[in-house]
Amino acid sequence: MKLYISCDMEGTAGLCSWDQCDPKNVTEYPIYRRLMSREVCAAIEGARLAEPCEVLVNDAHSRMHNLLFDELPHDIRVLSGYRKAFSMVQSGDEGFDGAFFTGYHAGIGVERAVLAHTYSPNVLYGVRVNGTEFDEALLNAAYLGEYGVPVLLITGDEALCSATQKALPWVECAQVKRSTDYYSADSLTPTAAIALIGEAAQNAVRRRAQACPFRVAGPVTLEIEAASVECADYMALVPGFARVGGRSLRFTAASYLPVFQAMIAAMRIGGAAAERA
Ligand SMILES: [Zn+2]
Repeated sequence: MKLYISCDMEGTAGLCSWDQCDPKNVTEYPIYRRLMSREVCAAIEGARLAEPCEVLVNDAHSRMHNLLFDELPHDIRVLSGYRKAFSMVQSGDEGFDGAFFTGYHAGIGVERAVLAHTYSPNVLYGVRVNGTEFDEALLNAAYLGEYGVPVLLITGDEALCSATQKALPWVECAQVKRSTDYYSADSLTPTAAIALIGEAAQNAVRRRAQACPFRVAGPVTLEIEAASVECADYMALVPGFARVGGRSLRFTAASYLPVFQAMIAAMRIGGAAAERA
């Protein structure tokens, strides 16, 4: 099968502070990027125990060059580097049979969820699709769903796993930690997390016939709560956005794809506005 892996970092076992996943940090980050790489490896190895897999990994955290190539299997492809137009799901339209989301985290506003946020926390305070709060997992799953790609596995904390299971009940979850607070977790050790992820990946691929692409029925309405009025000022410049409040915007399209593109465009232009003038 052709397997797509979008790997984030905040959901890595043990990780519970921004320092640990900040590429500018020279003490903690090097440790956690290695653990992140090993979790991705475990997911690939587990999947391949179930079925031969051609794998594309999209490094999807921060500057998007976190994975250590020397930790990875030699016969996969890696999308590395910032920035990518389609961000965490770049190249997800290339005919994949299934997707894994590793190292993911819960959406902004969720309590007892380690480092919960949705895309750029300095720009986006909330993203709703057809009235439902969408976290990164759902936003990205719906993009892949447009191309018929089902999400098979997700790894991260308990809050992420329970939210994903509610929306996408066929997804295999590897819960590597439980949040005790925004910045603390009761976590498995890296060794135990790797074993769990490997097993879950194997099960996910074995049961992939039961998984469905996540499709959002049209027409689709996107509602964005910007982090600040100045971010919203810029987002309102994107054609099709209606300003419905100081920090609130709405965008409607016949299908999900333009909505996802509008969300990315709003985030990018909002990011430019978030820099202090
Ligand atoms: Zn991240």
